Amino acid sequence: MDRKGLWLGIVREFREHLPPVREDGVVTLLEGNTPLVEAENLADVVGSIRLLFKFEGLNPTGSFKDRGMTLAVSKAKEEGAQAVICASTGNTSASAAAYASRAGIKAYVLVPEGSIALGKLLQAIMHGAVVLEVRGSFDDALNIVKEITSNYPVTMVNSLNPYRLEGQKTAAFEVCEHLGYAPTYHCLPVGNAGNITAYWMGYKEYREKGYVSSLPRMMGFQAEGAAPIVRGEAVEEPKTVASAIRIGNPASWKPALRVKEESGGRIEMVSDEEILHAYRLVASREGIFCEPASAASLAGLIKMKKEGLLKDGDTVVCTLTGHGLKDPDTAMSISVKPRKVDPSMKEIVEALGL
Ligand SMILES: *Cc1c(COP(=O)(O)O)cnc(C)c1O
Repeated sequence: MDRKGLWLGIVREFREHLPPVREDGVVTLLEGNTPLVEAENLADVVGSIRLLFKFEGLNPTGSFKDRGMTLAVSKAKEEGAQAVICASTGNTSASAAAYASRAGIKAYVLVPEGSIALGKLLQAIMHGAVVLEVRGSFDDALNIVKEITSNYPVTMVNSLNPYRLEGQKTAAFEVCEHLGYAPTYHCLPVGNAGNITAYWMGYKEYREKGYVSSLPRMMGFQAEGAAPIVRGEAVEEPKTVASAIRIGNPASWKPALRVKEESGGRIEMVSDEEILHAYRLVASREGIFCEPASAASLAGLIKMKKEGLLKDGDTVVCTLTGHGLKDPDTAMSISVKPRKVDPSMKEIVEALGL
């Protein structure tokens, strides 16, 4: 489990745990190997636990989606696909567009109109995808993508594509390798519920191989306005500031419930206010800028602490799924604008409070 030298991307690094890909067909941007950063300044909110952030915002396109996309696009290319297609709340399209451009194939992207973060939209456009804004929800867009892929020669790279979850499970491998054991709890945001399913696959595989001796309780957090799994029914018009998890009818709903049962975990919801509080906290105290949806994991952990769920010495990993720079509008909307001053020593010293 000890890895030295240059990182080769998850398809090559975890070859023995993944579906085979022809060596000359690997489409990679050297994704994975993201930092597991120890929290140092949050004891007042989470208590005496060991808390670590798996910062997936440091993947090549700024989200964990790259782990699944390298494998899905590699396989699509190997199978001779000329194009990939996805519906997306933003990050899947950014990742699909980047990997498709590298593979020399077309990417078609359907996003819900006006509801994807600016940075993500620009990524898809800059990487040359054909982007359509659908007057409807993510769920509407996904339904159309499913119909298109069953009638036209394009490969779907949403997480219904099984290679996506296979690739994404490697994040759990990395957590185990970095810690040397599996955490007590693993917290993450839940949108389509693919990632929580993928992490659980990864943890179980490493336990079966004997690399770790225990499994974490998987704690998934939806946003209150987009919490179909918690409420037990699809949400017609999902609403939350956390656009990456604004999903009313998750594709991996049933698998996620199984993960909850098998791991002894929970799937709960957090409010937008709690999400934004955690979003600001991790940026201002720990130096990590994640996107709003990512902060649902920390918001959930803070809630667990309040409910008395945590014991001293527990190890908790929160996945921070995407980078904060993707969504400048949300950051701006909760930020104090800088004060304007003249280039005067006196005025500046006074303004700085020195
Ligand atoms: C896709 C995404 C999620 C949700 O992951 P699911 O697998 O759909 O549950 C959460 N956060 C970010 C930043 C994402 O891009």
